[in-house]
Amino acid sequence: MKRRDFITRIGAVTLATGGALAAAPAVHGAGRRFRWKLVTTWPPNFPIFQEGVKHFARQVRRMSGGRLTIQVFAGGELIPPLQTFEAVSQGSVEMGHGAAYYWAGKIPAAQFFTAVPFGLNAQGMNAWFYSGGGLELWREVYAPHRLVPFPMGNTGVQMGGWFRKEIRSVADLQGLKMRIPGLGGKVIAKAGVNPVLLAGGEIYTALERGTIDATEWVGPYHDLRLGLYRAAKYYYYPGWHEPGPTLELIVNKEAWEKLPKDLRLLVENTAMATNLWMLSEFEARNLEALQTLKDKYRVQVRAFPAEVLQGLRRFTAQTLEEEAGKDALFRRVWEHYRAFQATHDAWSAISESAYAQARKT
Ligand code: CA
Repeated sequence: MKRRDFITRIGAVTLATGGALAAAPAVHGAGRRFRWKLVTTWPPNFPIFQEGVKHFARQVRRMSGGRLTIQVFAGGELIPPLQTFEAVSQGSVEMGHGAAYYWAGKIPAAQFFTAVPFGLNAQGMNAWFYSGGGLELWREVYAPHRLVPFPMGNTGVQMGGWFRKEIRSVADLQGLKMRIPGLGGKVIAKAGVNPVLLAGGEIYTALERGTIDATEWVGPYHDLRLGLYRAAKYYYYPGWHEPGPTLELIVNKEAWEKLPKDLRLLVENTAMATNLWMLSEFEARNLEALQTLKDKYRVQVRAFPAEVLQGLRRFTAQTLEEEAGKDALFRRVWEHYRAFQATHDAWSAISESAYAQARKT
């Protein structure tokens, strides 16, 4: 007997003898099949990001034996990318994938659930979410919007960005036009940069034509594919503005509550596995792409001077204080995040950071 036949027969037997197996724990709604839609904020075939979401959907379908099928749509295929939040909140689709800081216009506090300048790295974000109360807080912040969030993906520390000229001091930033979204943009504006927001598809042309002087994007693996090295020569690190951005899976609350408990566990655990999978992909692929940029395309890879980073850190503290003054929820999430970051930094000083230092000595 083939394995598939065997499983089918077991299924039939279980149904036929349901009464006799009453001692086995019953799963509420176990027989129901769910066909869900998931919209993302990413372009079709966007490596790691869209790829990871498809990987998630495939795993859920397989592990649920087809009881939960999730059809994935890239940004624009079903709805415009930045309508993901609304679409899932209203229940026109059951799931979405993107980054919480895209919704900063609606919920300024949401930015902490992706990344804040000089904030937690990927390891710290995961510790905050899973073990430090961060995920509970995130659920609470999204509850009025009828959304249940899950961390699902992390890029690790991003790159600081591409510049057409060398940056030796804060004064060199003065007057530059740079594509840099969110809080990072607000911070760097204090150094005299004019931050602009451009979608991924528009960045290369703007940089190449000199409409902008600088841009950040993701990291070497994605930046190489976008061809940014053809438009700017200097590639700076580290990505102080996005030190470990977490990506989010959002689920409509009503749909979530209709899902049997075992499928909820399956979604939750597969999201966690995908969170790890995406981060691992970034960690494994970025260096090779960086080598190509250096060796083949002669890109000048530079560290931001200490003076520039010190200035940006000072502007970050001012920016966060200003934002907290405008929004009580922002302040509440900031206080929680800040307390966790302080303990994480203190532990890191004698663990991860000390170890990194030890390897250099
Ligand atoms: Ca970025």
